[in-house]
Amino acid sequence: MPLPPLMHMLPERFEIRMRTLLGDEADAFFAALAESPRVGLRVNLLKVRAEDFAGLTGWPFEPVPWCDEGYVIPGADEARPGRHPYHAAGLYYLQDPSAMAAAVLLDPQPGELALDLAAAPGGKATHIASRMRGRGLLVANDVVRNRTAALVENFERSGIANALVMSSQPADLAAQWPGQFDRVLVDAPCSGEGMFRKAEAARQEWNEAHVQGCATRQSAILDDAAVLVRPGGRMVYATCTFAPEENEAVIAAFLRQHPDFALRQPPSFPGFDPGRPDWISPDLARGLPLERCVRIWPHRSVGEGHFFAVLDRQGDQEAPDPDVGRGRLPRDATALFETFWHETLALDLPEYGWQQYGEWLHWLPVDPEWWGTQRPLRAGLRVGKLAKGRFEPHHALALWLQPDKVLQWLDLRSDSAELAAYLRGETLLSSGPDGWTLTTVDGFSLGWGKRVQGVVKNHYPRGLRQHR
Ligand code: SAM
Repeated sequence: MPLPPLMHMLPERFEIRMRTLLGDEADAFFAALAESPRVGLRVNLLKVRAEDFAGLTGWPFEPVPWCDEGYVIPGADEARPGRHPYHAAGLYYLQDPSAMAAAVLLDPQPGELALDLAAAPGGKATHIASRMRGRGLLVANDVVRNRTAALVENFERSGIANALVMSSQPADLAAQWPGQFDRVLVDAPCSGEGMFRKAEAARQEWNEAHVQGCATRQSAILDDAAVLVRPGGRMVYATCTFAPEENEAVIAAFLRQHPDFALRQPPSFPGFDPGRPDWISPDLARGLPLERCVRIWPHRSVGEGHFFAVLDRQGDQEAPDPDVGRGRLPRDATALFETFWHETLALDLPEYGWQQYGEWLHWLPVDPEWWGTQRPLRAGLRVGKLAKGRFEPHHALALWLQPDKVLQWLDLRSDSAELAAYLRGETLLSSGPDGWTLTTVDGFSLGWGKRVQGVVKNHYPRGLRQHR
């Protein structure tokens, strides 16, 4: 029988290792790696209910067993969901179905304090924020600074206001916020074997020394992450690799060194397979319930390869309740900004939580004192720009607003020529009062326009414009 095409491209040692581990199942595993990955779509609950979204597009959907707001789109090549205006409106995030299990297992609640330690580009962090429903605080960190631009962009599109985006070393975060978080996600950098059918770079980079190097780094990150969890809080460890050195072995070593953490039995779903204590050294595994880890396999499930461990910290200590502080509107901005607000929005103007960074006005979810010496790259909602005697609202404000909270809007149908023109950055004609106007697609916020005598000047960000 001819080998499936990807088989020729897999690292040889990887193939030998997986055949040894999987035995009779190896053929099914390699056959799955030769298939095309499935496209997953997760509905953003900040914008639309999952049950309402399913009827909006007419695309065929299959459910993701472990995520109520997650779907597989069988006809994604034709539907091109990444190009649809609903994607630009932040109604959903395209995400591997397996990756959706992270936030499900972390189970963040509205009002809590959550941290995603390795967050860029934000697939799992936007899911956490979606489940927090805009209440509480999410700190999204990634040490690799140039990856945080995508994180900020995805947060803006998703309409997330209650977050800080950081680029710090985990040890520095642990020094600033020991024992403070209700939920901590560690989506660790790994050897990426679970991404082999999607990412050639992961196949190229792979070797056994790399697997070992990743395991060492993962243990160090987990040690710092543990400091950040409050007693009674939860940490989820995730990788997208099959290697037991980076999975069960990291968790076993962690549990031996941190007796205040317990490995929790996760809920069971079709496609969740147990951890494999038999794949690591018996001495390391002895007495630990490592089968409570979750493995997702491409030949037994709808997603790519993933591993999860749910680690609950024993004890009972409330997370702090940081408030927004006493930041008032900067005095020189007050009149300008208040005029914009009252002419444009049907919302009470918050008295506190304001902070100006250069020309940018932000609305913060937490008092800056709380982050001490840490420096967020993006704090809260970027509301707009104060420059040259004018106030100009930022795209992030448009995507955060529910359309019933603005006084003027221009609604465009998702299949209309006007909408395509708006997304290309063109001017539109529409009668109505002069001033800032929220452009919406089928009733969902999409961006700003400014109407002057029946002509709506386009303020859709240049970098997002779509020239099909
Ligand atoms: N959680 C992200 C998502 O869902 O979109 C994917 C994260 S990716 C699997 C792992 C991340 O770990 C990378 O973005 C990488 O920059 C970051 N990373 C690399 N070295 C790190 C370290 N020493 N500590 C923490 N994070 C690190």
